Amino acid sequence: MIRLWLIALTLIAAVSPACAADRLNVVASFSILGDFVRNVGGDRINVTTLVGPNSDAHVYVPTPADAKKVADAKLVFVNGLGFEGWMQRLLKAAGGKASVVTTTTGIAPLRLGSDADPHAWQSVANAKIYVANIRDALVAAAPADAEAFKSNAGAYLADLDALDRELREAVAKIPEGRRKVISTHNAFGYFAAAYGVEFIAPLGVSTESEASARDIAGIITQIRAAKIPAVFLENITDPRLMGRISAETGARVGGTLYSDSLTGEKGDSPTYIAMVRHNIKALTSALSQ
Ligand SMILES: [Zn+2]
Repeated sequence: MIRLWLIALTLIAAVSPACAADRLNVVASFSILGDFVRNVGGDRINVTTLVGPNSDAHVYVPTPADAKKVADAKLVFVNGLGFEGWMQRLLKAAGGKASVVTTTTGIAPLRLGSDADPHAWQSVANAKIYVANIRDALVAAAPADAEAFKSNAGAYLADLDALDRELREAVAKIPEGRRKVISTHNAFGYFAAAYGVEFIAPLGVSTESEASARDIAGIITQIRAAKIPAVFLENITDPRLMGRISAETGARVGGTLYSDSLTGEKGDSPTYIAMVRHNIKALTSALSQ
């Protein structure tokens, strides 16, 4: 009897790693995209995220370990629209064999000057396009798991529909004249276009450059003229700039908005849905009174 158990245990030990190895290895460039991919792939895939929680993808510097992760992956999911300026170099360093899936394909990009605004995920309608692109890429890469990917995506898309409705209802409760805020960098253009909240930011669409004294003076004039009620911090940028603007204008600090990155598991925005809910709660509580 004991011998049979031992044989059974040996068999299980031999089989389980093979199952894990059968799963599709994929990489996502940053935490929000990693969450989308995980929701569609479920337990059929192994997802590795390059730019982790509370980190800034605009200025990320890939490591040799990242090149190894990309080399081991069948698919690499990226945002595109100029978000991951470091990706081409990384793909080259990794040997260039992974298929790159640009998850914003099909989204009409907003423009700021000559640059595309990469933060398309801030509109939930766009998030649904990311999810559909991820589903199609996973189905093509692992047709045997197609049904699982389609059913996971269907359930998640329904959750996103509910989230979009929730957002619209929450914004509708903010008095119309108060739907305007200051955030650190210009990450909420798609959110503004979709939900009708105006955002003004001293930094551009990237965090790469610092705000000049003239930019800051301009923002301060705007806050006073438009009577903007609140300024917000972001989890990926230095809080001191907003602190200064708040002190000079009397606009209160309305909390932290999550723009380009999720928090870790223990933070208040470990998933995209939690992030959007956190942001809308912060906005409504700062702007409603
Ligand atoms: Zn950004």
